[in-house]
This record gives sequence, structure tokens and C-alpha cells, in this order.
Amino acid sequence: MPETADVVIVGAGAAGLMAGIWAGRTNPGRGVVLLDGARKPGAKILVAGGGRCNVTHAAVDESAYAGSSRNAIKKVLRRFDVSQTTAFFREMGVELKCEETGKLFPLTDDARTVLDALLSAAYQAGASILHPRRVEAVTRAGDGFIVSGAWGQIETPNVVLATGGCSLPKTGSDGFGYQIARSLGHTLTPRILPALVPLTLPGDHFICSLSGVTVPATLEVRAPSGKILAAFTDSTLCAHFGLSGPSVLDISRYYLAARFDDPSVILTINWLPGKTPEQVEADLQGLGRGSPARYLRAFLPERLARALCEYAGVEPNTPAGQLSREARKTLARTITRLALPITGQRGFNYAEVTAGGVPLAEIHLNTMQSRMCPGLYFCGEICDVDGRIGGYNFQWAWASGYVAGVSVGRPG
Ligand SMILES: Cc1cc2nc3c(=O)[nH]c(=O)nc-3n(C[C@H](O)[C@H](O)[C@H](O)COP(=O)(O)OP(=O)(O)OC[C@H]3O[C@@H](n4cnc5c(N)ncnc54)[C@H](O)[C@@H]3O)c2cc1C
Repeated sequence: MPETADVVIVGAGAAGLMAGIWAGRTNPGRGVVLLDGARKPGAKILVAGGGRCNVTHAAVDESAYAGSSRNAIKKVLRRFDVSQTTAFFREMGVELKCEETGKLFPLTDDARTVLDALLSAAYQAGASILHPRRVEAVTRAGDGFIVSGAWGQIETPNVVLATGGCSLPKTGSDGFGYQIARSLGHTLTPRILPALVPLTLPGDHFICSLSGVTVPATLEVRAPSGKILAAFTDSTLCAHFGLSGPSVLDISRYYLAARFDDPSVILTINWLPGKTPEQVEADLQGLGRGSPARYLRAFLPERLARALCEYAGVEPNTPAGQLSREARKTLARTITRLALPITGQRGFNYAEVTAGGVPLAEIHLNTMQSRMCPGLYFCGEICDVDGRIGGYNFQWAWASGYVAGVSVGRPG
């Protein structure tokens, strides 16, 4: 264990490894040490994208992110864009392929390829990766810092905090980095919430009995006035606890944040994306002897079709022409604008990212250096930035890690 280092990076996840690689490449003379509390760093890279690691997305821009201002997020994203990410991985021997959805994965479909390439690039750049070395404190000492833990301490003029957020704490990212940031003079956003997280419904809700049913659907956060505050259309999974799948994960942070500000905000689901209640009502009216169950089966699995009819109080096989106007209306709204009585979310153990963190307003975005504490840098999920499903969160880690790395690598 060295007693001093030019740069200490706390956290060797996606952002910390990126910062270590670029600090070393920018200035091969710099002594760069990465400390990670986990027995095996990079666990989150290995589980990402179902073990395939969705490294980035073909179309990244600030509109796919929330948290600090989009303008601030854009300033960092443009410093290391998708073409640079692709070239960076190619140069390390990892070819990326773009799927129909725009998501980019390694050609091998194996996240291990990504982690191994990052670890070996960090070693080649001269960085030392030490683990398990959980950091318990970072304290100011003169112009520099003392970074310490049960393993001892190390002195350095530059610290990069790349400790991630709170999601999937068993990987080592348990939110302790936020406490370190606060101890060095930073504030945190008023709320730190699970994002990209499944949502729960009352156990007796009909959706919970449809576990395994997956359909494309539109999820909408609505103000009491009916105004749509956020909407996502994608694959939606009914589960024994409630709802999951990309559309639900994407909408979760918008719903949860909006609910804090206004508890009367609701989440609705449209099982026939693109159809309005009026269109479905008209469709039903035009069915004549055809039944609602038959109409719905053209779009939805039988179980879901029946459950929607039953929830609306309509016998699924009744000829639609015999339905009262009121019954048609109720069924059309159940199909296209069903209000979901969300009871909560599944928590950080099931969340892919964290919403909230260190505000970008407290960071110089051209360097990722703290405005409060010279010599302190941030990158990755510890910052108040969270992206949609699809590779956006890693792209933030690559871009912010790159900016922090080249800045901290420059001779001071
Ligand atoms: C199941 C799952 C799947 C995902 N899939 C994708 C995907 O396919 N595409 C995508 O873009 N994003 C995905 N994400 C999100 C993405 O993994 C994260 O946004 C990204 O890993 C954040 O990188 P980071 O380096 O900031 O933090 P992390 O990857 O969380 O790394 C932080 C590191 O810091 C270490 N650490 C924390 N505290 C301390 C301490 N006190 N001392 C020392 N070390 C410490 C941790 O051990 C960890 O290694 C997924 C997330 C999850 C949970």
C-alpha cells in the first residue's frame, strides 16, 4: 500500500476506471491509485444489460437524462460522445454492435469482455487498483487529502469520488460516497431515490395475477388536471408484485419525484399504445356481434384481455352491440387510461440507478472539479444525473469519468 499518490480514485466502477485510464494516459508520470471496497470491482458492469452490458446508445443526448439541468448534463456529454466511446472500446479490442433498439453491446454479448478491457487499460495506463479497500473517510490535510479506511491511509493532493449511488448495494455502491461528499462541504439534492425501479401494486390487484404477461404499453404520469407530465411507451411486464419492464423502469423516477411534489399525481397505463379512449369506444361500437374479448385478443394476450373486461365489469364474450354506452366508456378507459394504485417501488436492491446526488451546480463541468473543495473531483452516478434504460447511464459514466480523468491527470 503506497503512503502517497498523485491521484486517488475512490470507486473502481465504470466511472472510476474511466477516470483512472484517462488520468494515466494524460500523464504517464502520475501515480494513480484506485481504491474499491468490493472484493471484486466492476460487479455492476458484469450484471448490466442482463450480463451483456449495454455500453451505450446510438442516440445519446441530454433529453434522455434527468436530475441536474439538461444544459449542464449536455456540457459533459459532448466532451466524450458515442463515437468516442465506440472508438475507445474498439482500440481496447472490444467491438460494439448496435441493435435495432439503438442499444450498443459488445460483439461477444458478454459483459466480462467490457470489464476485462477496462481493467487491463487501467493497468496499462499505470493505475493501481487496490481492493477490497473501503474508504471510510476523506479529510482535508493542508492543500491535499488523507484518504483512510480500516486498511490504513494514503495522502494525496487529488481525490476523485466515483463511488456510484445506492442502487444494488451488494455490488459495493451503498451511498457512503454521499457522506464523504458532504463531509467535504458539498450539499446533496433534497431527495435521493431509486430510479429505473419496478413499481408495486396492492397484492389483490388484477395485474398481480397476470405475472409473466408482457406487452407493449404506454405509461403516463398525469397531473390532477389530466395534463401528461411524462410518458414512455415500451415493453411492460406484469409481475406478482406489480409492474416492471422498460416502460415502467423509465417512468418510475418521473412518477416518484412528481408524487413527492404533488401526492395527487397519478400513473396511468394504456394497454393499446396510440389509441385514445374515444377511438376504442368507437371501435367497440362498430363491433356489432363481435365481443370485446375478441377485439382485445387481436392486440393482447387472452389472459390480459379477459382481465381488463372483468375489471371494467363487462362480460368478455358479450356481443359489443349489447353493451350500454356507460359500459363501453368504462371499458375503453380501462384499456387506455387505467389509473394504477401504485403502493411504492421495490427499493435500491432492484433499482438500476439512483436519482439525486451531488448537484452539477457544485462542480466545474469543464473539469468535474468541485467548486467547494479544490482537488476534489466527481464522476458517474454520485452526481445528480440519471438516464433512461438503454446505455445512457454508462455513457454518463464514460463521459464524466473521461473529463475527470484528463483534468486530474494534467500536471497541476
Ligand atoms: C442490474 C443493473 C443493470 C444495469 N444495466 C445497465 C446497462 O446495461 N447500461 C447502462 O448504461 N447502465 C446500466 N446500469 C446502470 C449502471 O450500471 C450505473 O449507472 C453505472 O455502473 C454507474 O457507474 P459508477 O462507476 O458511477 O458507479 P458503480 O458502478 O456503482 O461503481 C462504484 C464503485 O465504487 C465502489 N465504492 C462505493 N463506495 C465505496 C467506498 N466507500 N470505498 C471504496 N469503494 C467504494 C463500489 O464498490 C463500486 O465498485 C445497470 C445497473 C444495475 C444495478
